Amino acid sequence: MKRKDYISWDTYFMGVAKLSALRSKDPSTQVGACIVNEEKRIVGIGYNGLPKGLDDSSFAWEKEGSFLETKYPYVVHAEANAILNSTQNLKGSTIYVTLFPCNECMKLIAQSGIKEIVYVSNKDEGKDFNVASFKIMEAAGIKYRQIKMEEITLNE
Ligand SMILES: [Zn+2]
Repeated sequence: MKRKDYISWDTYFMGVAKLSALRSKDPSTQVGACIVNEEKRIVGIGYNGLPKGLDDSSFAWEKEGSFLETKYPYVVHAEANAILNSTQNLKGSTIYVTLFPCNECMKLIAQSGIKEIVYVSNKDEGKDFNVASFKIMEAAGIKYRQIKMEEITLNE
């Protein structure tokens, strides 16, 4: 008889997003994203990090201080990296992301033709950029769902 406690597609793809997030060098926020096409194939993954060629050790990871001394001007978000790393046209695909996308990423998501967002946390709910994000998402006709991860255990 086949196992009954195998994980769902949602947990599987969000698990890949979470695993990707663990690659992030950001000490305060690790975010991962996994883009899946209509055939349930992974076509892009990413996490928040500096652009190619920038040394992780010589840029600031601070959240506060003068703008140039914080991480904000330099970091590429997980969703943007997943879109940039994607292997095919993203029209009609779904993005799994551990944290609800900011408005900058939402613009890229809409522009790339992604049609659904699945997320776990939305810690910035109500902030202006989060409200803008929802406005873009709804106007672009992108669906969204918040999920809880199932427990992951293995019999080995
Ligand atoms: Zn973002």
